[in-house]
Amino acid sequence: KIRQIAIYGKGGIGKSTTTSNISAALVKAGYRVMQVGCDPKSDSTNTLRGGTYIPTVLDTMREKKTVKPGDIVYQGFSGVYCVEAGGPAPGVGCAGRGIITAVQLLKQLKVFEDLELDYVIYDVLGDVVCGGFAVPIREGIAEHVFTVSSADFMAIYAANNLFKGIKKYSNSGGALLGGVIANSINAPYAKVIIDDFVEKTSTQVVGYVPRSVTVTQSELQGKTTIEAFPDSAQAQVYMSLAETIANHTQSKVPSPLEVQDLRDWAAGWADNLVALETGEIRSAAQG
Ligand code: ADP
Ligand code: SF4
Ligand code: MG
Repeated sequence: KIRQIAIYGKGGIGKSTTTSNISAALVKAGYRVMQVGCDPKSDSTNTLRGGTYIPTVLDTMREKKTVKPGDIVYQGFSGVYCVEAGGPAPGVGCAGRGIITAVQLLKQLKVFEDLELDYVIYDVLGDVVCGGFAVPIREGIAEHVFTVSSADFMAIYAANNLFKGIKKYSNSGGALLGGVIANSINAPYAKVIIDDFVEKTSTQVVGYVPRSVTVTQSELQGKTTIEAFPDSAQAQVYMSLAETIANHTQSKVPSPLEVQDLRDWAAGWADNLVALETGEIRSAAQG
C-alpha cells in the first residue's frame, strides 16, 4: 500500500533539503518514491535534479488544455519522481487553493497507482496553516505529518500552529502527527529546548540533524547530500532519519500550547540559555 507523508515547517527552516535527502535515501534503498513540492517557491525538488527547476502543475494547467502525467512528473536522482505544485502569481489567488488543484490533478490522472509508488512525500510550506495549506492534513491525503523545526522561537511557533491544525482535523479523518525533525541542532541548548517543546506538546523528535557545511556544499553542486557525499556523517544522519520515517506507524494527536503559554515557555528559557551554553544545565528541567 502506498504511504503518504507530509513534511511541514516554516519557510527557510530546511524542509526541502531534509525532504529531498529523505526521498534520495528511500530511492537508494530501492523504494519507488515521489516528492511533491507544495510551496509556491517551487524549488522543493531542485537538489534531486541537478539544481534545475521543473515546470509546475499550476503553470502547466494554465498553458495546456489537457495535461498529461509526462508534463508534470519528472525523474531525478536514482529515478525519484518529482512534482512541483507551483503557486499563483504573487499578490493574486490563493496558494493553498493551488495545492488542492495540483493534488486533485495527480489523483485524477492516477499517477500514484500507475507509477506503483511506495511513498509520496509532500514538502509543504507551514508558516501559515490556513485552510489552504492544511489540505494534505485536512483531506487525509497524508497519513503521517512531520515538521522540521530548529530551536528558534519562530520555527517552534510555526510547529505549534501546525499541531493546532492537526488537532482540529484529527476527529474528522485528518492526518496525525509523527513527530518533529530537529534541524540545525548543534549547540547543546538547542537539543534541550526542542526536547522540552516536544515533551510539552505530547510528541517526539524523530531525528536530530546537525547544521553542516556538507549540506551547503551539496546544495552548491545542485545535489542532495545523499548523492554528493554518500559516505559522509551527514548522509548517515539522513539515511537513519529516512528509515525512521519510512517505518513509522504510530502517529498521534499532539497537544499544542496556547499562544500565551508558548510565549511564557519561551520567556522561561531566556534566563536559562547562558547556563545551557556553558553546560551548567543539561536537562530539560527549567525554572
Ligand atoms: P525550506 O524548504 O524550509 O524553505 P531549505 O531546505 O530550502 O528550506 O533550506 C534553506 C537553506 O538552509 C538552504 O540553503 C539549505 O541548504 C540550508 N540548510 C537546511 N538544512 C541545513 C543543514 N542541516 N545544514 C546546513 N544547511 C542547511
Ligand atoms: Fe494564502 Fe491560505 Fe489565504 Fe489561500 S487561504 S490566500 S493559502 S493564507
Ligand atoms: Mg522549500
